[in-house]
Amino acid sequence: MKKIAQFAVIVGLATVMGSCTTARLQSTYYPAKEMILEPSTSFVRRDIVHTVAPGETLWRIGKMYDVGVRDIMRANRLRKPKSLRMGQCLYIPQAAPLRAVVPLYPSSKWRYIIVHHSATGEGNALTFHNSHRLKGWESVGYHFIITNGTKGKSDGHIEATPRWIKQQNGAHCKAADMNGKSIGICLVGDFSRERVSKKQMESLVHLVHLLRKHYNIPLYRVMGHGDVPGAITECPGKYFPWGKLQERLIVVDRARKRTFGRFSE
Ligand SMILES: [Zn+2]
Repeated sequence: MKKIAQFAVIVGLATVMGSCTTARLQSTYYPAKEMILEPSTSFVRRDIVHTVAPGETLWRIGKMYDVGVRDIMRANRLRKPKSLRMGQCLYIPQAAPLRAVVPLYPSSKWRYIIVHHSATGEGNALTFHNSHRLKGWESVGYHFIITNGTKGKSDGHIEATPRWIKQQNGAHCKAADMNGKSIGICLVGDFSRERVSKKQMESLVHLVHLLRKHYNIPLYRVMGHGDVPGAITECPGKYFPWGKLQERLIVVDRARKRTFGRFSE
């Protein structure tokens, strides 16, 4: 009975959220492998509502919540897996806490990693996608977003954007032609005014480590936007703990096996 009541709340919530803007999703590339950031503590499963972000597929959403694609299709009366739309609200029955899924593709083009802040108090891949589309761009300019607990995403959640899923050039750093050779990671927040959260920093360390190892990117090519020659910006903000990030990356390099223990494929 309790479960039915819970689901009724979700259906009610979904009705309120029914005005979400929706847009057709693009086809995706197949990754060489996908790394999943596992929750480190025990957890309780519950029914939730998920808003489909740009580039997400049913298969990826299923992995994010550890729920079968068929269960999600049945709960939402979906006939075809590809009928998903960006901004659509989906019921996810008995979902585990949201986990990051990081697809890694075979490529030799990624030689740098550029870290940004959003310079906003809140946001996620969907909100940045919509604001960048208003500028006339095809999609959100970054390859990854690390959220800060706003706009329905948990603190430290990693979102892969359509530019990453389609392995397209970024639109995040024109200086030194970085858009064609660097992976753009944006942390939500304004680090000229506030500090990076502990969970965001943890996720950034793990994501940069995964990308560095997969694409063989040396530490000196992991840069803040403002450190790129020719870039005139304070991004990722004067309070961004750059020295701490580099220290952490050196430590996880040394303890590589232990770090990868948090991920599964
Ligand atoms: Zn920037």
